[in-house]
Amino acid sequence: MKLKLLPSSFEKDGGASPRQHLTCFLINGRVAVDAGSLAMAVTAEERSAIRDIVITHAHLDHIAGLPLFIDDQFSELTEAVRIHATSEVIEVLERDVFNWSVYPRFSELENSHGKVMEYRPFVQGSSFRVGELLFESVEVNHKVPCSGFIISDDSSSIAITGDTANMDSFWSSVSDRKLSALLIECAFPNELTELAEMSCHLTPAMLAAELTKFRDPDCEVFIINIKPSYRESVLNELADLQMPRIRDLQVGRTYEWSRESFSQAT
Ligand SMILES: [Zn+2]
Repeated sequence: MKLKLLPSSFEKDGGASPRQHLTCFLINGRVAVDAGSLAMAVTAEERSAIRDIVITHAHLDHIAGLPLFIDDQFSELTEAVRIHATSEVIEVLERDVFNWSVYPRFSELENSHGKVMEYRPFVQGSSFRVGELLFESVEVNHKVPCSGFIISDDSSSIAITGDTANMDSFWSSVSDRKLSALLIECAFPNELTELAEMSCHLTPAMLAAELTKFRDPDCEVFIINIKPSYRESVLNELADLQMPRIRDLQVGRTYEWSRESFSQAT
């Protein structure tokens, strides 16, 4: 399985910044998980290949690029872009984003080929196929309804938490799964524990407590969704944990996993 975190901000020289304002993972070059920077950061080839988008939750940093992604391709789409989300997330998208005031209601519009966008609702806790990928949705603990996912293809399985605070059902779902990688959020530094608890996010100390519930010692752990303003302090506190398997997931880099071995390509 291949996964790339799309960039969402830039350095002085125009190159991708490691600061992650928006969340969008591209899997096997054609399925997006979340759509934060989807329209802005895909290549032309990726834009034409992506027709399935799986959403963890409806916070802006996870959906900001979705309306623009449909808009960019409105007249060219020969099939609808499929949005896989829970009914709670779909309700927010229709009411607060695709409401004719913020943006057109694309689910009601067609081009010369037919529909341009359609919803594929899933029930929390259920499994569904997206092409060659099997998604198992798992409840996590965020301020709004949010899904984590265990994602598998023929070559490997990985888990992505989405935004979350401390959780239990997620850990029982991933136990004994022989994951190649766990992608888990860590938004705030320890000094903002109160804010993290209020907004249902993790700090490095909270993350360390969560990882005691994760029984797979071989699985690599990648940190995602670090708030950009606190990136340095979060990374320093993660290093202080002295857990060598923890590293931050780099933007713009393609990671590749198979059951036999772990490898990375740029
Ligand atoms: Zn969120």
